[in-house]
Amino acid sequence: MTRIAFIGLGNMGGPMAANLVKAGNDVTGFDLAAPILKAAEATGVKPASHLSQAVGEAEVVVTMLPQGKHVITAWADIMASVASGALIIDCSTIDVESARKAHEMAKTAGCLSLDAPVSGGVGGASAGTLTFMAGGSVESFAKAKPILEAMGRKIVHCGDAGAGQAAKICNNMILGISMIGVCEAFVLAEKLGLSHQALFDVASTSSGQCWSINTYCPVPGPVPTSPANTGYKPGFAAALMLKDLRLSQEAALASGASTPLGAEAAQLYALFEKQGNGGRDFSAIIEMFREHAAG
Ligand code: NAD
Repeated sequence: MTRIAFIGLGNMGGPMAANLVKAGNDVTGFDLAAPILKAAEATGVKPASHLSQAVGEAEVVVTMLPQGKHVITAWADIMASVASGALIIDCSTIDVESARKAHEMAKTAGCLSLDAPVSGGVGGASAGTLTFMAGGSVESFAKAKPILEAMGRKIVHCGDAGAGQAAKICNNMILGISMIGVCEAFVLAEKLGLSHQALFDVASTSSGQCWSINTYCPVPGPVPTSPANTGYKPGFAAALMLKDLRLSQEAALASGASTPLGAEAAQLYALFEKQGNGGRDFSAIIEMFREHAAG
């Protein structure tokens, strides 16, 4: 049993903390939103009235927060209260620069640290089947692994500080670009009188195959479990895809990488969100291409 503090108990953090309780850990939680803290209490998380109370006794602290600025603020508060030698893990998706800054803060406080963003969404968080992409020292990773295994199925050590965030935004840039490519192909097929099923049968077994068509097909029918079959209920919301594409473009600018298709994908998802689609699944962007084709 490990004494764990969990900070940020929202859509992802709530079920992740619940899985840590199920695995037999002593979990104290804190969230700025009182109703969210109350919901976590029902899953066995001990509620703390403030962050310092949650982390004071903790051997391991996990943060699951919206953005880099929230992580930096929370980590500053954590460092003021946590015992030296504790392990601090950030599972949020944030920019690489903030992630590296957070690692420096932990080092200064004599703590171990890991950036460990996730893939798998709310479904994976609830089922305990998330993939973790971790960045940090070998010692931090070894200590974190059994904790992460209570919340996920695949745990990959990607490298030093920030490497987990780098892997996450590179992967999601591929995903954003590939989904747009697949959507464009289906819209072209419609114009050419080719059925969805025929394009799927060929492309999903040929050189066009990728996760966006084989597992997450953006038209209803060929893959019955894809969000296209349920009116594009997420899944993975377009607003979150836009967030990750923007992070990839910030990183590309800062590092001097050339990512023209990533930049275009970010612009297209920004337009899609502006049209009121941020809460829909990201594969619904096919509708925007149909409208353009019609107009
Ligand atoms: P969410 O908004 O549901 O939860 C975030 C929680 O953090 C909120 O409950 C908020 O009250 C709390 N919070 C903010 N600042 C705080 C602070 N200083 N102290 C304590 N609590 C604080 O967001 P989410 O969907 O759980 O996402 C969390 C992170 O996981 C994000 O970085 C997101 O990009 C990433 N992510 C989300 C998904 C997904 O499908 N939702 C998938 C992969 C990764």
